[in-house]
Amino acid sequence: MRYRGRFAPSPTGPLHAGSLVAALASWLDARAHQGTWLVRIEDVDTPRCIPGADRYIQEQLARCGLVSDEPVVWQSARSALYQEALDRLVAIGRAYPCACSRKDIEAALCRQGTPRERHHAAVYPGTCRPEHGGLKGRPARAWRFHVGGGSLSRVDWIDRRLGPQSQDVGHEVGDFVLRRADGLWAYQLAVVVDDGAQGITHVVRGMDLADNTPRQILLQRALGLPTPAHLHTPLVLGPNQEKLSKQNGAEALALDDPLTAMNQAATALGLTPMPGGTSTADALAAWVRAWPFTIGAPPCPTAPP
Ligand code: GLU
Repeated sequence: MRYRGRFAPSPTGPLHAGSLVAALASWLDARAHQGTWLVRIEDVDTPRCIPGADRYIQEQLARCGLVSDEPVVWQSARSALYQEALDRLVAIGRAYPCACSRKDIEAALCRQGTPRERHHAAVYPGTCRPEHGGLKGRPARAWRFHVGGGSLSRVDWIDRRLGPQSQDVGHEVGDFVLRRADGLWAYQLAVVVDDGAQGITHVVRGMDLADNTPRQILLQRALGLPTPAHLHTPLVLGPNQEKLSKQNGAEALALDDPLTAMNQAATALGLTPMPGGTSTADALAAWVRAWPFTIGAPPCPTAPP
């Protein structure tokens, strides 16, 4: 099998040391396996995208020596593919329209006896499932994936760093959204369709996305797409021990000093930082040689849960 990996940033702001971890790890993993590395701009959530951030991210990556091996694709140009996948899911009974507003869902959860403080994490109660009578004359707002019942919605998978993982999507998430009420495509559908269309064999991304993986595996199964191998990278913590993010003040990776951010990202991956003055090419080459997550290596026993 020919390795194909990708880095898929959402252009909601520039890269910082936290988001660089996923970029660097995906590139190192691809190179360590003589694979192809792609960049895909995930700009489906248009209200959250910042104009020009896509170009800036690519410039930041290039300063770090990370350049897509094939032309970069933008999800905003790929709606037809997502529509085709949704149509396919509808045709096989795995997607259905949903008329519920947030208020309707709250009301249904109250009727179910779910305590109010748990509503934010509660699973969709399935009000608009076809077997529950569908839309009942109300206008469709969103489209949801029918996770199925019983063992159909249970996913066991192995993360290359974290080891065996398991989630019952039916119990923990429920029928999730594929197309939002505002007409935008949901991340879950877009990422699965694109990973499939681009022949991605290995997904390497931040650990904050690990609990999305079972939903994506269910979609891959329903669409008849292969499931890639997964490696979820550690998060970089800020001074307050919270995940480093734009929201808590992470600084954009400086174009004139990429090595500082690369060293911080490499350290999070358990690699040795390079002394000042090392070229980015030399740093990358050293880290490829030291890359600990080669395929077939056992999951790291000290990985946090
Ligand atoms: N676009 C997602 C993000 O920036 C990453 C998606 C993925 O790697 O699956 O968080």
